[in-house]
Amino acid sequence: MRDPTGFLATEYRSLVDSATDWKLRVLSGPSAPWCTVDGKKVLMFCSNNYLGLSNHPRLKEAALEAIRTHGVGSGSVRPIAGNMDLHVELERRLAAFKRAEASLVYQSGFATNAGLIPQLVGEGDLIVSDELNHGSIIDGTRLSRADRTVYRHTDVADLERVLSAAEERTPAPRRILVITDGVFSMDGDIAPLDRIADAAGRHGAMVYVDDAHGEGVLGPGGRGIVAHFGLSRDQVHVEMGTFSKAFGVVGGHVSGSRALIDFAYNKSRTWLLSGSHPPPVAAACLAAVDLLETEGKHVERLWELTHRFKKEMRALGFDLGASETPITPVMVGDSHRAKALSDRLFDLGLFALPIVYPMVAKEKARLRTIMNAALTDDDVTFAVSAFAKAGRELRLI
Ligand code: PMP
Repeated sequence: MRDPTGFLATEYRSLVDSATDWKLRVLSGPSAPWCTVDGKKVLMFCSNNYLGLSNHPRLKEAALEAIRTHGVGSGSVRPIAGNMDLHVELERRLAAFKRAEASLVYQSGFATNAGLIPQLVGEGDLIVSDELNHGSIIDGTRLSRADRTVYRHTDVADLERVLSAAEERTPAPRRILVITDGVFSMDGDIAPLDRIADAAGRHGAMVYVDDAHGEGVLGPGGRGIVAHFGLSRDQVHVEMGTFSKAFGVVGGHVSGSRALIDFAYNKSRTWLLSGSHPPPVAAACLAAVDLLETEGKHVERLWELTHRFKKEMRALGFDLGASETPITPVMVGDSHRAKALSDRLFDLGLFALPIVYPMVAKEKARLRTIMNAALTDDDVTFAVSAFAKAGRELRLI
């Protein structure tokens, strides 16, 4: 009899053959600047732990204390019996940090996009999305019954064209939702959210920003892209984010009007039907928000190191693409060379992963580096010298 699961091994083999399978490296110990990856001590240069909070003593202490007072599990989904005071307090503090009327915490950023987008728009509606938006937005979009269309990456004139064309349709869409990443995770460029909001506003569309890579990074005190552009909640209606990056923990969230949050938690299936965060997670997220409110130095240090690294890498002759943020891709072009650069850097003690097709276009392979505020000046000197050495050997500079 034919094995009904035969396709599993066949498809995996074809990923291996085309070198597009994931080879997982193992981190032993914390995600700290110097860490142990596959048994080798290396400088971490590709985590999303922008502010170095994932191993911060205040967050760890908060998590331990929450285990003592609340245990390790919440016991349920939030609408039934898993809504703890820690969750409620986290949302109150996050809303204050975001200067929003209210916030709602989900289990992850992915669960936020997958749970909320399909509730905001449905049959007869239209989603208008930047062509390089994150996969969780794409999946959230697929779960909706709305029509969907993309505009060219960060191209507001193209967005205008799409919105005007939508108005010509008969019947015209009932609701339109414009969605963009705040900071694009593969290129490190920033969405022109002020102009996107203007265009959407002229066409009566809602605006949804996924600020996973902007919060803790952009805006005063790391408040994110909405604060960076000084926009109001009438211009950007849904501000989504994650606790898994600059906040150093895990969990997704959304901020906006009270009406948005009341709607979101009553409707999002990922929120209603999945267990809530364990107490140590909620408490560590709370400590991270508190730290950002009280210690501006982490965000300042992140930018100081980012500017220095970009300046020295450009002086060496590296192409850093369109990056404007701590996500700095080192453009290589060919996938094999990007992998060779990553391997050579790893030998030299620097850990940065290659990003190759299908994550980016075939001829746009790169090494994606991400700055971390916990690095010392010497660490950055070390990283730049490793790039100089490997780059010369591979004739990239
Ligand atoms: N949106 C963007 C832009 C992201 O980069 C990510 C994480 N890769 C997510 C959403 C998902 O966030 P989380 O890790 O919290 O599920």
